[in-house]
Amino acid sequence: MSASIPELSIVIPAFNEGDRIVSTIQQVSRFLQKEKWTYEVLIVNDGSTDSTAAIVRQSSLSDSHIRLVQNDGNRGKGYSVGHGVQESRAECVLFTDADLSAPIEEAQKLVDPILSGLADVTLGSRGLDRALIGIHQPWMREQSGKVFNRLVRWLLGLKFTDTQCGFKAFRRSAVLPLFERQRIFRFGFDPEILFLAKIRGLRILEVPVRWDHAEGSKVRLFSDAREMFLDLIRIRWNYFRGRYRWEASHDSPGR
Ligand code: UDP
Ligand code: MG
Repeated sequence: MSASIPELSIVIPAFNEGDRIVSTIQQVSRFLQKEKWTYEVLIVNDGSTDSTAAIVRQSSLSDSHIRLVQNDGNRGKGYSVGHGVQESRAECVLFTDADLSAPIEEAQKLVDPILSGLADVTLGSRGLDRALIGIHQPWMREQSGKVFNRLVRWLLGLKFTDTQCGFKAFRRSAVLPLFERQRIFRFGFDPEILFLAKIRGLRILEVPVRWDHAEGSKVRLFSDAREMFLDLIRIRWNYFRGRYRWEASHDSPGR
């Protein structure tokens, strides 16, 4: 690990990604070596039962930019992203799905507004410019995504076209208090973090990105969709019960 604090941390949650994680690390590294930022790449192994951890450990031995972060079991994508953000050292943290469905070359669109101080959270979006989608998700998945987006708007008042894209960036010090309050740890974590960002008054920017669906999704359409719907109810309920409260003297957004 390089001693000085990097400008950018990239967090990649990984559950049984042994088949593609080498290629993902190579693509991300090749891209970052050409870019202007100093960086680190954190791969959060979410209790994989395949070779994911061994492969990442091997990569970290030959490249000091690569770090393996270990969960104590399979805790979910949301937990993994939160763990990665906590372990990150840079003030700008980008997370991307391991399948790089949003190509890493799109990173600048999310990173620049954070580094220039224009936004606290940037969301890669498949909804703002549909022409940027090359390979679409399967029809059912895409439709359920649209229904979910309506529910997110209706139940949480989050007026974004796409909250679920696995490509987002954060100003770390602004979002750490949000992740400390995180209660949704699987695929429904994005609306919770965005809801917290909104009630906290953070500046959220939705940015259109290119997207090509990759096979090998871990999402189980019916059971996960049901859970994610319930997660939205849980977020409202948690809010109603005052579980997301900030103590007056505690932390402030601190721009
Ligand atoms: N993931 C994880 N823990 C899980 C399930 C998924 O860390 O329990 C990671 C997975 O390795 C991937 C990301 O979350 O990097 C998104 O998962 P997936 O590609 O299955 O979701 P989709 O692209 O279908 O939304
Ligand atoms: Mg995927």
